[in-house]
Amino acid sequence: RPRVLSGIQPTSDSFHLGNFLGALQQWVPAQDENDAFYFIPDLHAITVPQKPKELRKRVLVAAAQLLAIGIDPERSVLFVQSQVPEHAELSWVLNCLTGFGEASRMTQFKDKSAKQGSEHASVGLFTYPVLMAADILLYRAHQVPVGEDQRQHLELTRDLAQRFNKRFGKTFVVPEAFIVKGTAKIYDLQDPTSKMSKSAATDAGLINLLDDPKVSAKKIKSAVTDNDREIRFDPENKPGVSNLLTIQSALSGRSIDELVAGYEGKGYGDLKGDTAEVLTEFVTPLRAKVDEYLADEAELLRILSNGADRAREVASRTLAQVYDKVGFLPRK
Ligand code: ATP
Ligand code: MG
Repeated sequence: RPRVLSGIQPTSDSFHLGNFLGALQQWVPAQDENDAFYFIPDLHAITVPQKPKELRKRVLVAAAQLLAIGIDPERSVLFVQSQVPEHAELSWVLNCLTGFGEASRMTQFKDKSAKQGSEHASVGLFTYPVLMAADILLYRAHQVPVGEDQRQHLELTRDLAQRFNKRFGKTFVVPEAFIVKGTAKIYDLQDPTSKMSKSAATDAGLINLLDDPKVSAKKIKSAVTDNDREIRFDPENKPGVSNLLTIQSALSGRSIDELVAGYEGKGYGDLKGDTAEVLTEFVTPLRAKVDEYLADEAELLRILSNGADRAREVASRTLAQVYDKVGFLPRK
């Protein structure tokens, strides 16, 4: 079975609808056809300052949400990055193969450090893509699902794998990027030409899965639309209406065409009301499941520790080969 690897950062108190419909939702069916490794990259999270108590809580909430949406810890390997020390260890070796200029060309670093001011940006943020390369190469993943924003990092991963293989002998699988089909791009409800994001200036257009559905329903009912009255899917000219149709379709499993046909002669109030209702039906049981997982923290920690053990079985083998090829003495 092909091996896939995906991660989602524990940097918010709840995943938002964009995270879910754009990424996490595909993780669930991918378990059927792949040997799936899913992880919470907390080492990556601390490349920008995090409050320790908050980070700990967010890692647990992230894990609970992944379990609640249907990640099965028996079939898939679900783990927290810092509990698998091989990530940091391989990352060091790869850091030593990465050119300073090469790392300096990563646009995500340029963007994020510009936001923080280069005095404040950490060296960890600078080598973030090298840690990501270590994540991927440790598990010998053939295919890595990536969004457009991670393309350049995957290219670096491929370069590092090839460089290592050439210099020290064939060790790593050189991974291919693949763009996942059927993922929706979700836009901010107040500014439907920008993508929904946890770092938006206000959260009026952001739907968090764990928010009270009454709050989310209100946000949907105040979503920005347009001045004509026609309900049709036209992202260019009707971004607000199209975004609501995308959300409702993705959550209900009904096609956009079917939804549009049903709205003939109806207004934006109906579209918003139905979308709010579908969202409420989706998040209500999800929130309850998340609460259940969080209520038994010992069990949650056990699931993650078991996942880390299984991840280490694969990761430690790769790292041992790497250390040997580089010329380090055997451990233990
Ligand atoms: P940030 O603003 O800090 O970048 P974010 O809200 O974009 O945060 P990420 O942690 O960057 O969230 O994204 C996690 C995953 O969710 C990624 O796979 C990303 O492609 C996906 N994703 C994020 N926002 C959206 C969106 N609006 N629509 C579709 N997918 C999204
Ligand atoms: Mg993002």
